[in-house]
Amino acid sequence: MSNPALAKEIQREVAKRRTFGIISHPDAGKTTLTEKLLLFGGAISMAGTVKSRKASRYAVSDWMAMERERGISVTSSVMKFEYEGFEINLLDTPGHADFSEDTYRVLTAVDSALMVIDSAKGVETQTKKLMDVCRLRDTPIISFINKMDRDGLEPFDLLADIEQNLKIECTPLTWPIGMGKEFRGTYSLVDNKLHLFSADHGGRIQQGIVFDGADDPRLDEYLGRQAQQLRDDIELISGAANPFDKERYLRGEQTPVFFGSAINNFGVQELLDNFIRLAPGPGPRPTTTREVEPTETDFSGVVFKIQANMDPRHRDRIAFMRINSGKFVRGMKVMHHRIGKEIQIKDATIFMAQDRSGVDVAYPGDIIGIHNHGTIKIGDTFTDRESLKFTGIPNFAPEHFRRVRLKDPMKAKQLQKGLLQLAEEGAVQLFRPLTNSDYIMGAVGVLQFEVIVARLKDEYNVDAAYEPVNLHTARWVSAKDTKTLDTFRKNYMGDLAEDAQGELVFLPNSMWRLESTTERCPEITFAKTREHN
Ligand code: GDP
Repeated sequence: MSNPALAKEIQREVAKRRTFGIISHPDAGKTTLTEKLLLFGGAISMAGTVKSRKASRYAVSDWMAMERERGISVTSSVMKFEYEGFEINLLDTPGHADFSEDTYRVLTAVDSALMVIDSAKGVETQTKKLMDVCRLRDTPIISFINKMDRDGLEPFDLLADIEQNLKIECTPLTWPIGMGKEFRGTYSLVDNKLHLFSADHGGRIQQGIVFDGADDPRLDEYLGRQAQQLRDDIELISGAANPFDKERYLRGEQTPVFFGSAINNFGVQELLDNFIRLAPGPGPRPTTTREVEPTETDFSGVVFKIQANMDPRHRDRIAFMRINSGKFVRGMKVMHHRIGKEIQIKDATIFMAQDRSGVDVAYPGDIIGIHNHGTIKIGDTFTDRESLKFTGIPNFAPEHFRRVRLKDPMKAKQLQKGLLQLAEEGAVQLFRPLTNSDYIMGAVGVLQFEVIVARLKDEYNVDAAYEPVNLHTARWVSAKDTKTLDTFRKNYMGDLAEDAQGELVFLPNSMWRLESTTERCPEITFAKTREHN
C-alpha cells in the first residue's frame, strides 16, 4: 500500500538525520569534544555535565557500582541533539577500560565517524583498531586534530602519520598557525577565513575575530612573523595536498582534517558546521536478500548492542535498535524474525533532545532501546511487513583470552548455560576447544572478563574464576568444500575450537602461528569477523 504523505514525511526526516560515533584513543579528548558538541546543540547548558568513564582507575567492583548508581547508563549511549535544523545522534563508543566489542558494534550502526587525534601523539593503537572496523563498511571519516594549544607534532607530520598508519588520504580543510604557547588560531582553506585563538575563551562559545583571505595585510599585524609561515604552509598545501573530493570522502578513501582545541572550544563550531554540510545521512543497509532504503515506508530495524541492567532489582536487558527504514511509533507491533514472533514495543526508550518531551516516533538513523529478558540477540531484525535479515553486525575477533575455572564442579551445567547466554548477548565470546573440555572466554577488552564473572555469580549463582591462557587471536575458518575443511581440521586439531554457535575457529598462540598457517593453507579462509546466524 502506498502512502504518499508518509513517504514524504519519512524522506524529510531521513534528510535531517546524522548518526555518527567518535573514534579515538583514550585521552585524546573525546569526552571534552562531545561536551562541546552538546553545548552547541543545546542538549546541555553547562560544561562538566558529560562524565568520562575512566574505569581504568577503578576496580571492577567500583565500576559496577558506578553502573548501578547511574541506573542502566543508557542515557549516555545515545546523545541526541539538534543543530541548524539537523537531528544529530551521537552514539557513544566506550573507550577506556570499558572498551569492548560493543565499541566496535556501535560503529556498525553509524553513518559516519569523527576521528579525534591528540596532536602530541598522532595515531594511537585504539584509533587504528576502530579505523579497521570503519573500513568494514567504508564509513566516511572526518578528522579533528585536538590539543593544538599544546606543543605537538608538526601538522604536516600529523597528516603523514594518518596517511601512513591508517591508509587514508588526508585533505586539510583548516590549517593551524603555530602550536602550544605559539598557537594563534586556524585558517580555513575552504573560505579563506582566519579564526584567532585566545587562551582566555574560558570554554565560552566564542570564535574570535574573523579575517578575509591570507593576503590581508592585517594578518601581519595580528600574526607577526607567523603570517609568513602561514602563507608558506598554504602554498605547500596547495601544491602537495589532495584537494577535497566529497565522493572520495563518502567512500571512506579521503578524510577532511580540522585542527583545534576541544577544551578551549576552539575549532569545534567549524567542525560541527562542516560535519552537517559533509556527513551523510542514513543510507541503504544490506540484508541477506536485498538492500533496504531508509526512505521505504515499511518499518525495519536491527539490534546492534545489548546492555544488561546492573541493578539486581531489574534483571532486564536493553536492546539497542537502529531504525533502518520507515517510521517507528510507540506501541507498534513488529515481527521478531529470528524467532518468528510478533511483539508489541510499548516501553521503548526513544532517545531525544533534552528539551523536548512526549516524542513517540522515531525515524531511520534514530536508535531506540527495547526492554527484554534475554529473548533478543545481537543482529536480530524487526520489521512490520517483509521478512528480512540485516547483515553487517558481526562478531569481532577477540584479542584477550581466559580459561574459566569452576569452583564448584556440581555447577557445570549452570556455568555452561550462563556462559552461553552471556555469549549470545554479546558480553563475551565463548570457545570450546576440539581437544579438551575447557571453556575459553574471548574478549576485545579485558574488563569484560571481570564483568562476566560478576554476572555469573549474580545472575546464575555460579562461582567461577578465570586464569591466563596462551592464545593470541581468533579467526573463523571456512573453505570452499568440506573435504578441504576436514583435512584442515585434522591437521590443526590442537589449535581449533567451536564458538557459541558451533562455528569452527582457529585460535593461534602467536602471531607467527597465525601467519605461518595462513601461508601454508591458502585454500582456507581466515576471517576476523563472523556474521550472526
Ligand atoms: P577522552 O579520554 O578521549 O574522553 O579524553 P578527555 O576528553 O577526557 O580528555 C583527556 C584529557 O585531555 C583531559 O584532561 C582534558 O582536559 C584534556 N584535553 C581535552 N582537550 C584538550 C585540549 O584541547 N587541550 C588540552 N591542553 N587538553 C585537552
